[in-house]
Amino acid sequence: MVTILDGKVVSEKRLELLKEAIGESGLYPRLATVIVGGDPASQMYVRMKHRACERVGIGSVGIECPGDATTQKVLETITRLNKDPEINGILVQLPLPKQIDTDKIISAVRTEKDVDGFHPTSLGLLMSGKPGFTPCTPTGIMTLLKEYHIPVAGARAVVAGRSIDVGRPMAALLTNADATVTICHSKTKDLPAELKRADILVSAIGKAQFITPEMVKPGAVVIDVGINQLDGKLVGDVDFAAVKDIASAITPVPGGVGPMTIATLMENTFAAATRME
Ligand code: NAD
Repeated sequence: MVTILDGKVVSEKRLELLKEAIGESGLYPRLATVIVGGDPASQMYVRMKHRACERVGIGSVGIECPGDATTQKVLETITRLNKDPEINGILVQLPLPKQIDTDKIISAVRTEKDVDGFHPTSLGLLMSGKPGFTPCTPTGIMTLLKEYHIPVAGARAVVAGRSIDVGRPMAALLTNADATVTICHSKTKDLPAELKRADILVSAIGKAQFITPEMVKPGAVVIDVGINQLDGKLVGDVDFAAVKDIASAITPVPGGVGPMTIATLMENTFAAATRME
């Protein structure tokens, strides 16, 4: 019988616990979000993050820069937020418009406020297995695995996708948790054969229902990060209906990894406030 890894239920539970912890701490953590331009998907994600803040007792400030803002203008915003003692976490909603130097913006965020974990210093600490902020999506996945008591140490994990926000930090977190990790990407030779070796398969490639049962080892734990539109519906990278019959555990889309990402952002923001005390 397959276990559905219910990110919605787990994230609700964790948000409730976080709300209690924030209440008991006497702190009032604050998150600033920075969005450049009016991309509807980015606007929706930022709204969801603000709603989660409200729910757990984190203050949130939304800064909207015009779509034609320059790198310099956005940098000035980041510098102001870096200096603001009332702000504990800074989240720059990606992707940024083409004229903006994204690396410069991410590198400008003070590492103590880098609740998204994308700053090169945060990523370097993650790579060396040292404490620091770690990107929310892969961190949320590690939490989900823990909540369902899925053993990671010694497991063969295969991560499909090598982006900075998901694939690479996912592989680093799994490595730090003692899994044996393979990263696959668009140039991987014989992807199905690589995927089929996985005890834990994480897909973050962004292709609707790309992962079919032939690519999955029977009994594998399947984590679907993908968010894709197919015939007006939201679907993952995994053909859920077919793969669930051979997996031992699987995340649904929606309701799997997505809610864990937001819960992790809230946890990181509280951690930032605690460290700044
Ligand atoms: P990305 O486009 O930056 O990276 C995609 C990766 O997939 C690349 O490394 C590429 O090499 C690899 N890839 C593409 N086609 C492939 C193929 N045919 N075979 C093997 N590898 C292939 O994307 P991303 O930012 O990492 O996001 C990936 C997906 O996860 C998207 O659908 C995105 O919407 C979703 N996402 C979800 C969350 C969440 O919270 N649920 C968070 C971030 C991203």
